[in-house]
Amino acid sequence: MKTKFIFITGGVLSSLGKGLAAASIGALLQTRGLSVTIQKLDPYINVDPGTMNPFQHGEVYVTEDGAETDLDLGHYERYLGIHMSQSNNYTSGRIYETVINKERRGDYLGGTVQVIPHITDEIKRSVLSVAKNDEDVALIEIGGTVGDIEGLPFLEAIRQLKNDLGKENVLYIHLTLVPYMRAAGELKTKPTQHSVKELRSIGIQPDIILCRSEVPLPADLRAKIALFCDVDRDAVFSAVDVKSIYEVPLEFYREGVDQKIAILLKLPAKNAELDAWKELNRRMENPKGRVKVGIVGKYVDLKEAYKSLHEALVHAGVANEVALDLEYVNSEEVTAKNVEKRMKGLDAILVPGGFGSRGIEGKILAIKHARENKVPFFGICLGMQCAVIEYARNVLGLEKANSQEFDEFTPDPVIYLMTEWYDFRKKRVEKRNEASNKGGTMRLGSYPCKVVKDTNAMLAYDEARIEERHRHRYEFNKKYAEPLQSAGLVLSGLSPDEELVEMVELPGHPWFLGCQFHPEFKSGPMHPHPLFREFIRAAVEFKKAR
Ligand code: GLN
Repeated sequence: MKTKFIFITGGVLSSLGKGLAAASIGALLQTRGLSVTIQKLDPYINVDPGTMNPFQHGEVYVTEDGAETDLDLGHYERYLGIHMSQSNNYTSGRIYETVINKERRGDYLGGTVQVIPHITDEIKRSVLSVAKNDEDVALIEIGGTVGDIEGLPFLEAIRQLKNDLGKENVLYIHLTLVPYMRAAGELKTKPTQHSVKELRSIGIQPDIILCRSEVPLPADLRAKIALFCDVDRDAVFSAVDVKSIYEVPLEFYREGVDQKIAILLKLPAKNAELDAWKELNRRMENPKGRVKVGIVGKYVDLKEAYKSLHEALVHAGVANEVALDLEYVNSEEVTAKNVEKRMKGLDAILVPGGFGSRGIEGKILAIKHARENKVPFFGICLGMQCAVIEYARNVLGLEKANSQEFDEFTPDPVIYLMTEWYDFRKKRVEKRNEASNKGGTMRLGSYPCKVVKDTNAMLAYDEARIEERHRHRYEFNKKYAEPLQSAGLVLSGLSPDEELVEMVELPGHPWFLGCQFHPEFKSGPMHPHPLFREFIRAAVEFKKAR
């Protein structure tokens, strides 16, 4: 195996941006002509984050192959432009599940199954499996903070890998915090020293230390950290807070992080080619205007729950050279009385995906407002389902129209669970779930879609066939296709067999589009998603005309 492995651990506290640091390093190495792959190891016991509350854990990121993964994989895809899959994210739960299944099958021939070597061997196998294409570099991010009990088997496994792979093929990067004590006007290195001490006590000597700090680290502090932590002086880097997350690769480049990595790992790297990243940052810093987008949803308190959505909007802003003011509106607070007021001043309205009936009526009111006032509207997954319900109720006159998710016994299930009278979808989903070792009947991962001619969808994609990622149980009920179409709704995206409705839109409205899939998962700063791009373009036009 020619792949060199870089392990990234975190110290002092969580939320230091380890995922972004890993993604940024990966992106920088790519600009030097190296092929890169990347993986996240999560020490928690959940088998995958699919069942985790987005409030607590942030968004569930869905890959092409239908894996429900940690949101850091979203950063990886956005920064590196490569597709992640099931093998790019392992949790303790998944590792243990594999080992326990092997034990039940008798694979261990009656031996005592232990953390070392059985769990650690399984971790090592998972780590090595990520470099499928013999990439030049594999970046492995260990979730959590050094010192967590759950993280120990992972740290032990990556410690062993240095011996297994040879020390010239392995590099350890430790990300820590150097807090700034405002009262004393001083940066403090003690937490970093402690965290590195903890790491060394389990046998890992970091090669590079990345220090998150509010202000750049002066040379004497770098020297001090180098001395106490036993690393090269030029291997202590300052990772200062930046305005935009897309500045991090440039910031690391200015610090010389990639240079040091290339030297330490003896990588055949050419000079970094940073024009695209520079151009991206130039555009972000020099917007030609601003538009205000209202996001009407449930998890409004926590941007992490809508991470990819937020980023896709940022990319679309960059593509249109405008800055975005994102206003998160809690749909539970939207009522018939206040909807005018709550939607006032918005240049566009977006209803994102979600589960459960909380706040649904508020979303439907916001959609009605967008439809009637010709405000650009984008409905994603649940947002499209709500748009269909709104149209069925208020235009078609089916007052009780609903999704079976919110009213099991609705007389007009315009959105329904495809089970009794149409089990082909179920079969397809089950087949896929089996393949990716999943329970449930969620439609997950990438599915093809035909784009209908002469629609806004076609204007955006300019392609007759696309592939987008799904994560939902309910579907548009084809029984209502005809009445809804007669009432003016256009079905602008269909599965190849035309049995599933994937996009709907309204003619005579500048931009009103709903999609059953999650386009936000495929947007990147270098490749903004066409639907988001066109949605924001419509917002710019709307603002101009207002
Ligand atoms: N709750 C809806 C469903 O399961 C929508 C899911 C979503 O928005 N991701 O179909």
